[in-house]
Amino acid sequence: MTTHPRVSALSGQRIIRRMHMHRALIIEAMKRNDVARAAGAALVFLAAAAVPVPGAWAAAPKVAAKTTTKATSAPSILKVAPVVYRERRLANGLQVITVENRSSPTVSVQVWYHVGSRDDPTGRSGFAHLFEHMMFKSTVNLRAEQFDRLTEDVGGANNAFTTEDVTAYEDVVPSNHLETLLWAEAERLMNLKVDEGNFKSERAVVEEEYRQRVLASPYGRLFNAFSSASYLEHPYKRPTIGRIEDLEAAALSDVVAFHARHYRPDNATLVVAGDFDPKQLDAWIDKYFGPLPKPAAPLPRFDASEPAWPTDRTAQVTGPQVPLPAVAMTWLAPPVTSADGPALQIAAAVLAAGESSRLNQSLVYRQRVATQAGFNADLRVGPGLLIAYAIAAGGKSPADVSAALLAEVTRLATTPPSAAELAKVKTQLVTQAFMSRQTPLGLASAIAEAAVLESDAARVNTDLDDLQRVSAADVQRVMRRYVLGARKVTIDYRQDEVAKK
Ligand SMILES: [Zn+2]
Repeated sequence: MTTHPRVSALSGQRIIRRMHMHRALIIEAMKRNDVARAAGAALVFLAAAAVPVPGAWAAAPKVAAKTTTKATSAPSILKVAPVVYRERRLANGLQVITVENRSSPTVSVQVWYHVGSRDDPTGRSGFAHLFEHMMFKSTVNLRAEQFDRLTEDVGGANNAFTTEDVTAYEDVVPSNHLETLLWAEAERLMNLKVDEGNFKSERAVVEEEYRQRVLASPYGRLFNAFSSASYLEHPYKRPTIGRIEDLEAAALSDVVAFHARHYRPDNATLVVAGDFDPKQLDAWIDKYFGPLPKPAAPLPRFDASEPAWPTDRTAQVTGPQVPLPAVAMTWLAPPVTSADGPALQIAAAVLAAGESSRLNQSLVYRQRVATQAGFNADLRVGPGLLIAYAIAAGGKSPADVSAALLAEVTRLATTPPSAAELAKVKTQLVTQAFMSRQTPLGLASAIAEAAVLESDAARVNTDLDDLQRVSAADVQRVMRRYVLGARKVTIDYRQDEVAKK
């Protein structure tokens, strides 16, 4: 998942602030910065983000560890009250999901467009991301950046992110500002000014973001290479953040066409969670979103696949400032809706969530071959990636790190996780998911992820149970299938020899 803050070209401060508040970006920032102490938390967060889980506990959670002495007994399931939501579709095709929760006088309004970097036109990588920025520019009735005034100036917040599969806009406001936000989201869907001025200014911002996040960061090139070095054919191969040469080659007509093609009510999901009166909310949604016309052109269909990888491959990537060499390995993962998804999330957490995770204990503490190591189950709508990576310790060669990393990852296929390991990571994942949905923002995000990424809002009420039911045998089975029995790509990352001089 690659996500980016929307920033003003003029304000460096703002870049930092948005990076810190950006939910999905935190994941990416962790991946890119590779802060050893935070890597585990990032992975928990990643897993929680990819597997939406139910909203509120029916009762205080039981201590899972108590049940782990008998490894053969059925796993205990923390019983969770379901998220009660209403779902409907307007005549123009807009999907609407609402969750009433009066625990605080705030409300989150989110619009998830079913367009991501997978939909970028050929030779125009970065278009979906560019629109994430464009949507904060002027509309017929809003000045540029007025979204900040409508949210931040009343004590709320707004943000946006782009992934391979979606572009999402998230607002939180005191609930007496709900009507204004609904109007404003409808306004920027229909009346955005896609003109030369807005296009060029935001293109410059995106290019600068690329320089900062990919080129200036010591390991930015490595993380940017995960997808591009791995996929053979799937459009996931393209970097979500974009390429400068593609952005430079774009003309305004390309941008206008992309907007018309993807920004339409029947290609979006509106989620409202928090403090509202249901009848009043329905009336406002009908009033502001109802009149938006459904375009006559058919909805673009996304259809792509990735062939099975015929052989193991390697890729060499270098950077001008690489303090310590690093290695990454990727394997193809099944779609996020796969029945194997939960076991892969658990496997990733056993390997890499927190100080006591296997990779950290083995590679960093015992063998001292790496300064940090991680494993992500990056599950997407289409074929995702399992990604193992490690940064060498001083004096250790990439070959040392690579061998140790592969040995520890494959050990999970041959040595089952202990009952204690399973209980620990389930508690981590469930706690993280539960905490994130204590706010209208987290609640809305969880149900949007289920509705849009998993194509079924109801999964918000089953995914956490699925995660908790994963057994040690399930973990071994998926590691055998997707890692031991599959082809991999190894990315070797080190200092550019020319730059070293
Ligand atoms: Zn961005």
